Amino acid sequence: MSQAAATPANFPFLSDRHLDPHAYPDGVVFLDGQYLPMSQAEISVLDWGFLHSDATYDTVHVWDGRFFRLDLHLDRFFGGLEKLRMTIPFDRDGVADILHNCVALSGHRAAYVEMLCTRGASPTFSRDPRQAVNRFMAFAVPFGSIANAEQLRRGLHVAISDKVRIPPASIDPSIKNYHWLDLVRGLYDAYDRGADTALILDFNGNVAEGPGFNVFCVKDDKLSTPAVGVLPGITRRTVFDLCAEAGLSAVATDVGVTALKAADEVFITSTAGGVMPVTTIDGAPVADGKVGPITERLMALYWKRHEDPAWSSAVRYP
Ligand code: PLP
Repeated sequence: MSQAAATPANFPFLSDRHLDPHAYPDGVVFLDGQYLPMSQAEISVLDWGFLHSDATYDTVHVWDGRFFRLDLHLDRFFGGLEKLRMTIPFDRDGVADILHNCVALSGHRAAYVEMLCTRGASPTFSRDPRQAVNRFMAFAVPFGSIANAEQLRRGLHVAISDKVRIPPASIDPSIKNYHWLDLVRGLYDAYDRGADTALILDFNGNVAEGPGFNVFCVKDDKLSTPAVGVLPGITRRTVFDLCAEAGLSAVATDVGVTALKAADEVFITSTAGGVMPVTTIDGAPVADGKVGPITERLMALYWKRHEDPAWSSAVRYP
């Protein structure tokens, strides 16, 4: 199903949205066939997405009025739906139209844009997931980054938690999901130790990922990133693509804690912030404790490619 184009005339709430003191975060949601201000979006407490974390989602960003690699995010979202046996009444073009409309209606030029589907609730409160009516929704809110401006300049301080990422045999990490208790507990470990954020381990004791990001290390100009038990991030994939173009070697493999701490450079990757430097791990500097040259180069290449029509597409603002 295709969506009507977004124009202020179709959506009269837009004119007074900014006057609503409860409208924070300032954004637009698509829910049950309607576009609403964020403050008016409501879902049932009986939805399995809420009760059982039975949901999948994807997040794409808009930078300077352009979606970045939207096709890859749609591929991952529809892959997750299929693996979880969820169905939605929209095809890829329909979902893309809804995302465009959410951003256009929000007016944001830099946005964090999420599409998600919950298992929903069964009309009879049956325990059989096949009876549930799956629920698709989407929203656009202002762009947010894991690292703030100061952290981007000085590099993030990261602590390695002993929490173990939920293993891939339990939850296929290629299905982007809200099973975050391990990551959130890792974050508390990090805060207790004065760090900005956390990395957690895989079931073999190697480094896995962090709350909302993948991790890379650089040693002797070669890049590596954990291969198993992690979300195949689109930013991670973009780093591989940029490395291939720049003639840098990058592999997905086991990354041990010792190797990470002995790296020349470490950085994390996420749609929420792009390529972000890490300059201390567990209180000790990574190499000389400064943002490294390969990290800086990849940060610049990453943001530059947001203008490239091969990797980005203009939001259809009214
Ligand atoms: N790992 C986890 C657990 C995530 O939630 C995310 C993003 O939300 C990532 C990695 C990074 O993925 P991407 O680069 O696609 O944003």
